[in-house]
Amino acid sequence: MIKSRVLSLTFIVFVVLVLTIALEKNQLISFDDTLSYVAGLFFAEEIPSSQIRSEYASSTLKLLIVPGHEKDTGGTEYKDLRERDIVLALSKYLSLEFQKDTHIKTFVTRDGSGDFVPWLSDYVTRNKEAIKIFRTTAAVTAKYGVISGQFERNVVVEHNNASSISSLFLHGINKYANDNNINLVLHLHFNDYPGRKYNKPGIYKGFAIYMPESQLPNANASRELALAIASRLKEVEPPSNYPKERPGLIEDQDLIAMGPNGTRDGVSLLVEYSYIYEKQLTDPNLRDKTLRDLAHATYLGVEDYFNNSDTLSVAR
Ligand SMILES: [Zn+2]
Repeated sequence: MIKSRVLSLTFIVFVVLVLTIALEKNQLISFDDTLSYVAGLFFAEEIPSSQIRSEYASSTLKLLIVPGHEKDTGGTEYKDLRERDIVLALSKYLSLEFQKDTHIKTFVTRDGSGDFVPWLSDYVTRNKEAIKIFRTTAAVTAKYGVISGQFERNVVVEHNNASSISSLFLHGINKYANDNNINLVLHLHFNDYPGRKYNKPGIYKGFAIYMPESQLPNANASRELALAIASRLKEVEPPSNYPKERPGLIEDQDLIAMGPNGTRDGVSLLVEYSYIYEKQLTDPNLRDKTLRDLAHATYLGVEDYFNNSDTLSVAR
């Protein structure tokens, strides 16, 4: 019922769009022109790193930290260690680090109890239908992009589908971030891979940073930030040796965090900080220091992106 309403609304949005274009051009347009125009909308104007850096220098940027998954569900587990809990602890250390930088104001999507913060859950509840239309309209537009040859589907690493509630919140985060000029979004996760025995450590290790695939409008600035964070993380944790994640930086167009189908205007990254079963996390005596080190390395990477971009390009 709701699905069909969303589809109908999407169709109406599309028809209105076509009529608007026709009226604006004050002439009849061909179907091919329409496809090209609609697909062209998909490739929103990109925000260059230089613009983000000058905004940083002259004002205060907003950084949204998204500790992955929900309070009671989602994420990987190893023995009694839950990804959704350790990313929450990491998010606290990360927001503490950014208190040192007056040019960055941080927001975190989950509070100390693990629940989504009220401003986010209220936003998603109030805008449920609008978020679904946002998601569906982008998917329909991207389909026209594929048909008209302006957008290519490209899957490098397969991901588990997000549950419908997770999908709603993640798209809600993208829409909220776009609507409220959130400059940077960092999604925090710990990794795992299909086929590992649940109570046995796996064979892979290391961090992986997922960044928007090159066709997406937020690709370039996100990539620069990913490189800056990766070069700092390397001092704490090696890059992932999982074959598809080598050498630790992966372009992706499917993860909701990336803004699939052009649903994210600003910089967004998803960091898988290490595999969940790695000793520095599973050992209770090492875990806290590991999380602090990872938070500090991430902070230094962001600072390098804004303050040491010259040395970054040399290091690359
Ligand atoms: Zn995760």
